[in-house]
Amino acid sequence: MKRVVIIGAGPAGLTAAINACSEDTMVTILESNGEVGKKLLLTGNGRCNYFNEVFDISKFYSNDSNLLDSIINEDNIDRVYKFFNNLGIETKVKNGYMYPYSNKASTVRNALLDECLLRGVDIRYNYTVQDIDYVDDHYVIDKTIECDVVVIATGGLSIPKTGSTGFAKSVSDEFDLIYVPNTPSLVKLNTDSDLSLISGVRCDAKVSLYVDNKLIKSEAGEVQFNKDSISGICVFNISRSAIIGVEKNKKVSLFVDLLPQVKYEDMVSYLDNKARNMKDITVYAFLSRIFNEKIVNYLLKVSSVKNIKIYNKLSQEEKINIAKNISKLKFNITGGGDYTTAEVTTGGISLLELDLNTFEAKRQKGLFFIGECVDVDGDCGGYNLGFCWISGILAGSFIRGNHD
Ligand SMILES: Cc1cc2nc3c(=O)[nH]c(=O)nc-3n(C[C@H](O)[C@H](O)[C@H](O)COP(=O)(O)OP(=O)(O)OC[C@H]3O[C@@H](n4cnc5c(N)ncnc54)[C@H](O)[C@@H]3O)c2cc1C
Repeated sequence: MKRVVIIGAGPAGLTAAINACSEDTMVTILESNGEVGKKLLLTGNGRCNYFNEVFDISKFYSNDSNLLDSIINEDNIDRVYKFFNNLGIETKVKNGYMYPYSNKASTVRNALLDECLLRGVDIRYNYTVQDIDYVDDHYVIDKTIECDVVVIATGGLSIPKTGSTGFAKSVSDEFDLIYVPNTPSLVKLNTDSDLSLISGVRCDAKVSLYVDNKLIKSEAGEVQFNKDSISGICVFNISRSAIIGVEKNKKVSLFVDLLPQVKYEDMVSYLDNKARNMKDITVYAFLSRIFNEKIVNYLLKVSSVKNIKIYNKLSQEEKINIAKNISKLKFNITGGGDYTTAEVTTGGISLLELDLNTFEAKRQKGLFFIGECVDVDGDCGGYNLGFCWISGILAGSFIRGNHD
């Protein structure tokens, strides 16, 4: 009987456990928390965006991104669909984002837990693993638990209250494996602008990230302004490059286009046309027909135009200033959210160390790394959980001895 110990009962660990079960394996999960999938319950604002219909490789990042196509490919995507079909989870899709039809992350968490229990997985709660030794062809955990296979599924460093402590780093040190340094990602971006006037406002926009004046990435979606930071899914999706830029002391700027359907070059004539029949309207009242009033106050402040001025009497220079701030509202980025708010952690065990068909360490037989502790991270949209399912399925079914 092969003794399998999985450390961590997050989405990756639970998936590996389900797939590793057979008559020839004895599967145990050791979990620090008093429940499984604590972070999983927070995903997608409690609704769990668990996968994406367009599971595209361009949404993923790694220090060894040339190896990602061994992981993000049709065969593995099919494996995930098959796994979820077998779990019987009814799905709903919004803009490609896949959620359980129940709208509840607990549906996914409970299905994974039930399946583990049905298959006889032994889950030990409130057990925090301290160390792993390799002695005479087998592993010994905390000097007491002996096993043939160990799966590290302990996640990254983000949201420590969910149990993330970066344990995988100490395992990589112990076995002398390459570890790509961690950074927080999918975070809000901090700015030195005072955003008190628009704090709490959400609006649709397009954001563009420039590092040392070079366009790195643009994304459209809902943006939220906070007192000294900017958030929203589209901001999260560019935060990775922004944080790395700031850490390297580069000049990082975020440009927000508040009306992307109108080109900057056409903005003044668009506004003039719109205001043509509104002879004596103030610029504040006029712009309030397009934008949230707090945004109008902010726009006029940064454009140095008084609210009570009549739009049709503005100088060309004032109109150009307003147009520029509508299309290219600029913020200097000084940093971002830390691990207490980051949705994911970049870095982890290097892909160079792993057999990407099984997620077993090439230089340490019987030792597997899956999920967020591996150097793969993705954009918002179900990509990070998607990687957990793929790595969990591949590792688990290989351990079971059935790689279909
Ligand atoms: C607020 C939020 C929203 C998110 N929304 C989405 C979303 O909608 N879609 C998406 O794709 N991704 C989302 N993510 C990312 C996703 O949740 C993670 O990528 C995923 O949970 C990683 O799974 P994992 O199994 O690798 O690690 P985790 O979920 O972190 O699980 C690791 C487990 O290991 C346990 N553990 C750690 N160390 C030890 C130890 N030494 N001994 C024993 N147990 C240990 C922990 O307690 C934890 O239970 C979100 C993340 C956050 C924070």
